[in-house]
Amino acid sequence: ATVFLNDTFLPAEQAKVSVYDRGFLFGDGVYEVIPVYGRQPFRLKAHLSRLQSSLDGIHLTNPFDDERWTQLITQLIEQNDSDNQAVYLQVTRGVAPREHVFPEGVKPTVFMMSNPLNSVPESYKEQGIKAITVDDIRWQRCDIKAITLLPNTMLRQQAHEKGAGEAILIRDGVMTEGSASNSYAVFDGVIYTAAKDNTVLPGITRDFVLELAAKANIPYKEESVTADRLTQADEIWISSSTRELLAVTTLDDKPVGHGIPGPLWQKLDALYQRDKLEANQ
Ligand code: PLP
Repeated sequence: ATVFLNDTFLPAEQAKVSVYDRGFLFGDGVYEVIPVYGRQPFRLKAHLSRLQSSLDGIHLTNPFDDERWTQLITQLIEQNDSDNQAVYLQVTRGVAPREHVFPEGVKPTVFMMSNPLNSVPESYKEQGIKAITVDDIRWQRCDIKAITLLPNTMLRQQAHEKGAGEAILIRDGVMTEGSASNSYAVFDGVIYTAAKDNTVLPGITRDFVLELAAKANIPYKEESVTADRLTQADEIWISSSTRELLAVTTLDDKPVGHGIPGPLWQKLDALYQRDKLEANQ
């Protein structure tokens, strides 16, 4: 596969990063994952705007303007075969002697790759997925899309070992989000999802889902749900760029609602599948 590193496109095998890269030594960097449908990046502007916020959050200057990013992402998509792709990009603070204090005058390292975006397995859509609730052990700046994902990977692994596809995170007694997704609960026809603050990543898919809900006149509230109340939810969902919108039908080994993807999920997923293909979403 062709990847992009710093200023060139090259075969993945030839792309090499220094052992002194701060991404490697400190996890000092941020990233984005952009889904591509029919060779068109989905909501590119929103992803680039979130990238800017993440870079601002770690006090790192954006190496490119949006126009340049758009050119590079377009070229990366062209150089990869699949019609549907997941573009991964990351920016780290660059290569410098290992020292916590930010180095001066160092060029950030930019890396991009694109993988085929596999469609979500039918069985997940038909049956929903299992999830477990776990204590949210992450830091206080979950709004930054940092490459430092050790807590997320540990929690997701914990879910995996229990045969579950996602870990739903509980902080101070309320649901924040998933280990790699935003999360939602439905009560009496109203969708609840955590407000955008420092405890969650402002998901691009989350915005899309809430827009679809608004268009379909399904009410939603950006309010957190307690772990206790979550056990009584009619429906629970997760969303992300690569998994789209999935119903959680088993939570902590107990059925959610009737234990099958619920009617509001059905409705929103249908709208999702229809509207994701519209250009310039
Ligand atoms: N929350 C976390 C912790 C994530 O890692 C992700 C993405 O993988 C999301 C939410 C969903 O964000 P998006 O919809 O922009 O993919």
